[in-house]
Amino acid sequence: MIINFWGNLKELLWPPFRGQKRVEYDLTRQASVKDIIEALGVPHTEVGRLIVAGQEISFSPCGCNDPNPYLVREIYPERQLAEIVHLFGIKGQFKPLSRCLRCNGLLQPVGKEEIIEQLEPLTKKYYDSFRQCLGCGKIYWPGTHRDKMLLVLNRYGDYHALD
Ligand SMILES: [Zn+2]
Repeated sequence: MIINFWGNLKELLWPPFRGQKRVEYDLTRQASVKDIIEALGVPHTEVGRLIVAGQEISFSPCGCNDPNPYLVREIYPERQLAEIVHLFGIKGQFKPLSRCLRCNGLLQPVGKEEIIEQLEPLTKKYYDSFRQCLGCGKIYWPGTHRDKMLLVLNRYGDYHALD
């Protein structure tokens, strides 16, 4: 990865990087941005602004459980999920499929009879368990897409049953 140091920060870098604005850093292990910057000699408290991929982010004030700025190294979405779950120790703490894909509203179980008018004929015929978004009203039911997603999520975090 490439890190650019502005202002006086360049002078805090260890040799041989001292005075260089642009430092190339080999990512050989999992590390937060804070760890990397400190490994190069710059105390993170000296850093005024931290910009990653064009967006300003902040260090957490203490080094405890708050998520630090972190560079995800995996390329594929499934492995990125595993990396994040592992890093922050949040296995079993998230509830997949509890929110609407369209508006992020909370989903709530809804009786089939309440929404039967809105269902396609085959959905009406084959499904009995439905949930509806409290935000936009979109209706969800167990389907093959959902099963595939749960398979992926189950591999990396304990899935909290929703039904
Ligand atoms: Zn919604």
